[in-house]
Amino acid sequence: MSSDNRIDFGIPDAIWILGNLFVKTPEALESVLAKLREIGYKVDDKRDEPEDGFLRHGRTNEELEASGWNLWYAHLDVRQGKCGSCGSYISTLGIQTHDHRCEVCGAVTYLKIIRGSLVEFSFIEEDPGFFSPVLRMPAVRWDAEEGTLYLKLRFVGGGFRRLDETNAWEYIRRFRDKWELVRVGKDWCIKVHYPDSFYMQPDDVIEMRDISRHHWNHTIVKVWEGVEYREYDRLPIPDSFSVHETWRWTLLEPSPTLHETILHVGGVVSDQGYYYQDGRPAVRAGNFEAMGVFIRHFTTLDADAWEVDSRRFRLDGPGAIADVAAWCHPEAEIMNKPNMFNTINAMYDGLSGKPLSDQEVAAAVHGAGDPLLKELLS
Ligand SMILES: [Zn+2]
Repeated sequence: MSSDNRIDFGIPDAIWILGNLFVKTPEALESVLAKLREIGYKVDDKRDEPEDGFLRHGRTNEELEASGWNLWYAHLDVRQGKCGSCGSYISTLGIQTHDHRCEVCGAVTYLKIIRGSLVEFSFIEEDPGFFSPVLRMPAVRWDAEEGTLYLKLRFVGGGFRRLDETNAWEYIRRFRDKWELVRVGKDWCIKVHYPDSFYMQPDDVIEMRDISRHHWNHTIVKVWEGVEYREYDRLPIPDSFSVHETWRWTLLEPSPTLHETILHVGGVVSDQGYYYQDGRPAVRAGNFEAMGVFIRHFTTLDADAWEVDSRRFRLDGPGAIADVAAWCHPEAEIMNKPNMFNTINAMYDGLSGKPLSDQEVAAAVHGAGDPLLKELLS
């Protein structure tokens, strides 16, 4: 999110704020889009989304434009697979599916289950209960096409919910109709139906929880201008970013909710309940600087005053939100949704003998209204 891989468009009407690009005029947009395409970006117009599209939430194009929605999405197509055997760049498509082959040398790029993989699962039952037990067993063989998994009769216990030699037999006997006892070489195994499918099927008998120890013979890399980068390394220019057409909604006037937009653009969640309540810092000077750029270019508020005043704002989440909100409007409406994590944090701190601040106690009481918590405790 820092500034050193921004693209310089050489025009004053294209403004970067924390990795997003805000463009002030249609003429500036035209030159920005031309430059992006020249560099090699694909640029999606979000207005092309179907009427019932996921991002659209039923809004018309006019509503999207007026709401400040990021209408353009620029992205580089730089991800490549790399075969672990021959080192060729290959397609990422399907590279991590069971028994996929390198299109150059034919080597297997990935096997989901191999001999020795630890397979963790539960049998599917009508009414499993919240803490249904799991078995962890070593795989001997998996015939993915046939949908048959052979598991060595050994139970690797340890950790919460995992059954071991002392209690696994009773569980496995309970599902006697769901497995067969077979011998594979010298190993006694249970044979269970387990097809190679991402989704649950009606005839499934086990629910897979986790598989460890795959056969992994590929990496994902990024290749840009002939240079190879690791998957999560940063390129000299951003991989992707949004472009906003600001002339559709500027300048923004002060209102009881304007601070939400300003916080959001500055990389801060506008809900006080989201943050820790114990005063620990959650906001940095860089967030306030980014908000200042937005205020200067896109609102009628006094950006020079912001630069002075924001230096005194609190850095903890709830405090920063309150200070930004109060600065933007005298009757700002501050969001503070119940958050059960505040309740849990406060309960934990109370148990460990750490004194609670008034703010923490208030947030904990408030957090108990979180519907998620009610569901968990019921
Ligand atoms: Zn290969």
